[in-house]
Amino acid sequence: MKAEIFSIGHELLMGELTDTNSSWIAARLPALGIQVQWVSIIGDDQQMLTEAFARGLERSDLIITTGGLGPTQDDLTREAVAGAMGETPVVQDEVVQNLERYFQGRGQVMPSHNIKQALLIPSARFITNRNGTAPGWWTERDGKIIINMPGPPGEMHPIWEEEVEPKLLELADDEVTITRNIKTMGMSEGAIDEIVGEFFGKENPYLGIYSKADGIHLRIIARSRDAATAKTMIQPVEEAIHQRLGEFIWGYDDETPEQAIGPILKERGLTLATMESCTGGYLANSITERPDSAEYYKGGVMAYSDAIMASNGVPKETIENHGVVSQETATAMANAVRDSLNADYGIGIAGVLGPSEVEGKPVGLAYVAIVGSDSVKEFELRVPPRRVVIKRRLANQALIELRKLVVASGGAS
Ligand code: ATP
Repeated sequence: MKAEIFSIGHELLMGELTDTNSSWIAARLPALGIQVQWVSIIGDDQQMLTEAFARGLERSDLIITTGGLGPTQDDLTREAVAGAMGETPVVQDEVVQNLERYFQGRGQVMPSHNIKQALLIPSARFITNRNGTAPGWWTERDGKIIINMPGPPGEMHPIWEEEVEPKLLELADDEVTITRNIKTMGMSEGAIDEIVGEFFGKENPYLGIYSKADGIHLRIIARSRDAATAKTMIQPVEEAIHQRLGEFIWGYDDETPEQAIGPILKERGLTLATMESCTGGYLANSITERPDSAEYYKGGVMAYSDAIMASNGVPKETIENHGVVSQETATAMANAVRDSLNADYGIGIAGVLGPSEVEGKPVGLAYVAIVGSDSVKEFELRVPPRRVVIKRRLANQALIELRKLVVASGGAS
């Protein structure tokens, strides 16, 4: 099945909003045997949208869209689908009642323009949206399918998982694509390329290598008539990667660094405290992405000045003698926060976020220390001098190195 994705909205065209919906959807289609051929960003313009749907219906079997399902005049996705299909939308009383109940539940009266969200054409049916007022549309005619979902990811993701994906699975082509993503840190792309080079350049299973903010990823993709066979094709490649790169592997598939360390700390009854400067709270933010993080994360200090470091237990002499951006200061930060919050592990990060050098040290240079009761890991990093990259890379690497240290000090996990 050939598919295309439309991300709809003026904000996307103006560069005010980054399109994350299309990549989120695209990443989920191969496993359903659906090939994505086009991804488009289209503004809230009825004529352009209608043309895009009409063209999409000619060249693709499936069109998946997000956005433009709200109640306002510039939400035109429904009207454009109706135009491309040549059908007239009709208000569905049942949906009007549901919308009225939705607003009553919030102590409000439904604004009249929300009636728009109760429109339906004969070839479409509604897709339930538990988290908002905009129901989706599933339109099917002459072997072609159009799926319209709302733009907010918090509404779109559950709709996809609960309503759309199960139905697409039923329609999936004979061929299924399975992917396995293996995440490494600590070895360069070139070195990995050499070590597993024999698996590159093959079509099925295909092995790709990608440099990301949380290390080098290896993605194995296998296609077959059924999922079990595709998994069997992946297995020998995955085993070989494991044997050769085992110590550098920290996670799989959608796993993030905080997901890779959180459960290990929790399982072992260990706690963590952090003191960070140049990551601006990004480390604490990443750790607390996990809903159960309170069980192992005691807290953190965002020390954006020497004075705050000193008032949180970092000896002034360490800063004066070695500099605020130094391995000694990073280690003192880890020790100080570990002691003051009475945690098993402390992480300290000190570096130069920019825009200019600090103490003659370049933007992107940073020192990290991870201190446990019987183990210490210290390292220097040089990261490309972009603020977001510095924050992300340092926080990710600190968590991945913490994972290595905890696993090494307590047997394999
Ligand atoms: P609503 O009922 O909330 O208006 P909608 O379907 O009309 O839903 P839009 O108005 O197009 O959706 O977008 C609402 C919000 O959803 C945007 O402000 C943005 O936060 C998010 N959003 C929309 N499209 C995307 C996208 N392609 N990627 C990421 N976020 C998006």
